[in-house]
Amino acid sequence: MNISVVIPLLNEEESLPELTAWIKRVMDTHNFSYEIILIDDGSTDNSWKVIEELSSENEHIKGIKFRRNYGKSAALNEGFKITQGDVVITMDADLQDSPDEIPELYRMIHEEGYDLVSGWKKKRHDPVFTKNIPSKLFNAVTRRMSGIHNLHDFNCGLKAYDKSVVKNIEVYGEMHRFIPVMAKWAGFTKIGEKAVQHQARKYGTSKFGMSRFINGFLDLLSITFVGRFGKKPMHFFGSMGIISFLIGLGILVYLSFSKLYFNEYAIATRPLFFLGILTVIIGTQLFLAGFLAELISRNAPNRNHYLIEKRINQ
Ligand code: UDP
Ligand code: MG
Repeated sequence: MNISVVIPLLNEEESLPELTAWIKRVMDTHNFSYEIILIDDGSTDNSWKVIEELSSENEHIKGIKFRRNYGKSAALNEGFKITQGDVVITMDADLQDSPDEIPELYRMIHEEGYDLVSGWKKKRHDPVFTKNIPSKLFNAVTRRMSGIHNLHDFNCGLKAYDKSVVKNIEVYGEMHRFIPVMAKWAGFTKIGEKAVQHQARKYGTSKFGMSRFINGFLDLLSITFVGRFGKKPMHFFGSMGIISFLIGLGILVYLSFSKLYFNEYAIATRPLFFLGILTVIIGTQLFLAGFLAELISRNAPNRNHYLIEKRINQ
């Protein structure tokens, strides 16, 4: 199979018939073998009914229904598990992303050998203050922290992947915004971008509020941290702890000397004294945190989980 299209959706009953018909049209003109995987993320409208009807008319349409709303990341994760196509395309269900981009995205993965191609909503049709400006900031921070400098738009729903990428990364929490970052950490480094058409939302309303940017930033912190130190937390906490401890020790030794040899009495009233104690305690705590984190990561089931790309003679 050439292409799997994975579409997470929450209350998008109006858009689905139009969207699937459009995708089918594109696939048929280009003679792609394909599947459309619709994941109903706990919709409270008629979305699932619509999916049932659509799939009875078109055997390429598959559906997954969550019992409740788990979020876009969860939906993508379950969709990724069952894809069969060589190239996996994700898109939003709200008709903001255009299926006409699929052939070119497929070509970039299939022929140019990209691991991941992210859409870039160069000309956005979203509210300026609540979305476009915060999103620019968010993308700038993510670019810096992840070191993926060639992406303008991490959060675009329209993306294409080589199948090995989606089978090897786990999307959870609200990590769907950082799939390129996770892919990079997993070793899929050929990441590209394509400017894509973007429409204003035709039906329904946006499912994410402003909280996305705060949560997004926290997620970015944890993903960078786990990527960099997840398998060796002691390197982070331990080094910080030792530095802090040594600074404190230096201060306390200095104070003790000045008491012993220069008969300086009231060292306990000097601010430096408290700073010394504080940094010694913080240093010990950090060291301990590193040690505990190390024990936890040693017992983690995926402690020896590495992605092997190729083998020879075995
Ligand atoms: N979505 C989902 N689960 C959620 C929230 C959103 O599956 O909890 C889907 C939604 O139906 C749409 C896509 O994720 O297909 C993107 O959501 P939306 O268009 O509301 O986001 P925006 O375009 O405002 O970034
Ligand atoms: Mg949208």
